[in-house]
Amino acid sequence: MLIGLKEALDFGQAHNCGIAAINTPTFEMLVATIKVAERYDIPMILQHAEVHEPVNSIENIGPAMLELAKRSTAPLVVHVDHGESYEFVKRGFEVGFNSAMFDGSRLPFAENLKITRDVVALANEYGYGVEAELGVMPGREDGEDSDAGVGDAALYTDPELATEFVAATGITALACSFGTVHGLYKAEPKIDYELISVLRRRTGVPIVMHGGSGLSAKEYRECIVRGVQKINYYTYADKAALEGAKQYLADHPETYVFAPVSVAVGRSVEQNLEELVRTLYEGQLSR
Ligand SMILES: [Zn+2]
Repeated sequence: MLIGLKEALDFGQAHNCGIAAINTPTFEMLVATIKVAERYDIPMILQHAEVHEPVNSIENIGPAMLELAKRSTAPLVVHVDHGESYEFVKRGFEVGFNSAMFDGSRLPFAENLKITRDVVALANEYGYGVEAELGVMPGREDGEDSDAGVGDAALYTDPELATEFVAATGITALACSFGTVHGLYKAEPKIDYELISVLRRRTGVPIVMHGGSGLSAKEYRECIVRGVQKINYYTYADKAALEGAKQYLADHPETYVFAPVSVAVGRSVEQNLEELVRTLYEGQLSR
């Protein structure tokens, strides 16, 4: 079933857990993500990032995401991830997405604030939640230069600006930069936990972690306790997808068709996501 962004985040807060937000640009990722949500009967967020348009356009993969979410027994949000313009978010809403992130973090503050307000006004017409970003997070979902800027305090979200930004835009959740990066970690992440607490307290909205791949269970838990309720996760699931394919090909060198590889990919992603949600729910899952 479809639920709203706010509903999912409220669940996270009530249960002191992180809601997994998974990019599903391929059908294998989509089906595996929903299977895991159903298996544990937990809310999850299915996302399509603008950077994944070359993999599958939002008009192609979006209706599949929505249809499978609506008929699922698990509560699911269908969310535009890293919309880089007002127009892309609008395209998502037109497809039927019921939540969106506008990412103006690379724009000057005033411009980011202005477009975010416009996106919130559009979302309000539908009653949808909006996530926006302040502070620069190194790397992108497509895995480019995730190294640059690791541990550079100048890139971390400024609590003063964040408070002003949330009050002026009326967003539902704030993506912040506090030491995680997109893509694979080549150096140890330097997470500023105290900054998360300050941002959560002062802005009054749940904090979103981008670059959730590759943190330890302890690091996840500490971020959640401090106020992170949405965990964006993609790189390691996609890495697991590729490993599933490689393993299948190594075990079946004689194969001359693709479908069994797709099955192996799905299974591998499922295992990876199961491990993730167990960490995010620490002991609260019954199965
Ligand atoms: Zn992100």
